[in-house]
Amino acid sequence: MILQAAEGAMQRQLTLCLSRPPGHHACSDKKRKGFCHLNFVIDALDFFHGKGLRAVIVDIDAHHGDGTEHDILERDYGFYASIHGFGPNVYPGTGATSSDRILNLPLTKDSGESEWFAAWNQKLIPFVKAIGPDILLLSCGLDAHEQDILAPLKLTTSSYNQIGRDLKSLNLPVFAILEGGYCLPVLGESMKGLVAAFL
Ligand SMILES: [Zn+2]
Repeated sequence: MILQAAEGAMQRQLTLCLSRPPGHHACSDKKRKGFCHLNFVIDALDFFHGKGLRAVIVDIDAHHGDGTEHDILERDYGFYASIHGFGPNVYPGTGATSSDRILNLPLTKDSGESEWFAAWNQKLIPFVKAIGPDILLLSCGLDAHEQDILAPLKLTTSSYNQIGRDLKSLNLPVFAILEGGYCLPVLGESMKGLVAAFL
């Protein structure tokens, strides 16, 4: 289903895959961890690479996509940028440092909009622009919302509308895959705000 959606993604501003369970903790050597079974965003990366396209994965889930980083480093293509909570008792405990093709922006537990958007505007967006990708693959976890039961961060519903507007302004096709998000009322509102930015 992910790959069917990917077929027309270059002709659209936003393609959204409401897949479950999430996938960004799954990787080639350790399946089924952090609720994840299959890493959908890596499948999408491989698909677009196979079409000769340059793709960057942007991960806004509150948790580091350790599976995605692992699998990208097994390849000689793809880029990964993530903003996530980091510190004692924050799952999965990775993503503290960056490396070739990887930009990790760890925030201390309970960081809010000011810290999150400082990392976004000052580091992540410039990283994406410097790569000059053909398509942006969004690991669209919404569990950084302050009301999420698993949230190590404190974004708000309106934060996701701002994220959507910032992504739209990049003028790239965005292929978004749902990752985490465990408080159903705010999950729906947050996704609505993100998608509305593209309308
Ligand atoms: Zn998460």
